Amino acid sequence: MFIWKAILNCLPTRQNLCKRKVLYDPLCGICGLEVETVNHVLWSCGAAADVWADSESPVQKWAKTEGNFMETWIRLSEKMGTGELELVATIMRNIGSRRNSFVFEGKFQGPSVLYKQAQDCLSRMREAKMELGNRREGGNVQRDMGRWRKPRVGWVKVNWDASLNPELKRMGMRIMVRDENGELLLYLCNSIVGIFTPAAAEIQVLWRALQLCADLQWLNVIFEGDALGII
Ligand SMILES: [Zn+2]
Repeated sequence: MFIWKAILNCLPTRQNLCKRKVLYDPLCGICGLEVETVNHVLWSCGAAADVWADSESPVQKWAKTEGNFMETWIRLSEKMGTGELELVATIMRNIGSRRNSFVFEGKFQGPSVLYKQAQDCLSRMREAKMELGNRREGGNVQRDMGRWRKPRVGWVKVNWDASLNPELKRMGMRIMVRDENGELLLYLCNSIVGIFTPAAAEIQVLWRALQLCADLQWLNVIFEGDALGII
C-alpha cells in the first residue's frame, strides 16, 4: 500500500505540500539540497542512500539517482525476487516514517534499526499469511468463499471481521478486498489491545476498512460483514 501511494505520488512530500500551497519551501526537510520528491525521500536523499549502502542492503551498489519514483520501482521489480522486493518496500516505508519522526519530533534512527524493524515486520506478515493458509486448510475460508459473491464490474468488495479475547482485552482484525473477478487485492490482518467489547472491535475493523478505501481512493466499494448491529 505504501509503495502504491508512492507511485501515485500521494505522499505528503514538501513538493506535494507546496503544490497545495501548504508550504512554500520544497527543499528536502533532511538534507535541504534537493526538492523533496517521493523518489528523493525514499531513494536518492543522502539520508536514504546511507540506509541503502548498509551491509544488509540488497541494493548496496546501486546508483541512487534523482528522478521519478515509478521508474526506480520498475527497475527494482525487474531485478529482484519477491523476498528482496518485500524487504526494500518495507525499508522504504520505514525511511518514510523516519523522515516524519525527524521533521516533527527531531528523532532519527540509524540504518541498523530500520533493517531490524523491517525484518520483524516481514516475519509478522509471513506468520499472518501462514495463519491464513492454515485457516484455508481448516476449511473456514473455503466455506466463506462458498457463500461469497463477486461484486459487479468496476466495484470492489471488502469483507471484514473481528475477534475479541475479553480477558486480554485484545482484538484481532481481518480485512480482505477482492475485485470483480474474485482476485484478492488486499489482505490485512492485525491485532489491537485495549478493546473491551465485541461491538467496539467490529467498529475498529470497519473504520480501518473505510480508511483503507479512502486512502486508496476506491470509490465503488461494497462492505460486507456479519456484525448486523454495526452495519
Ligand atoms: Zn534530502
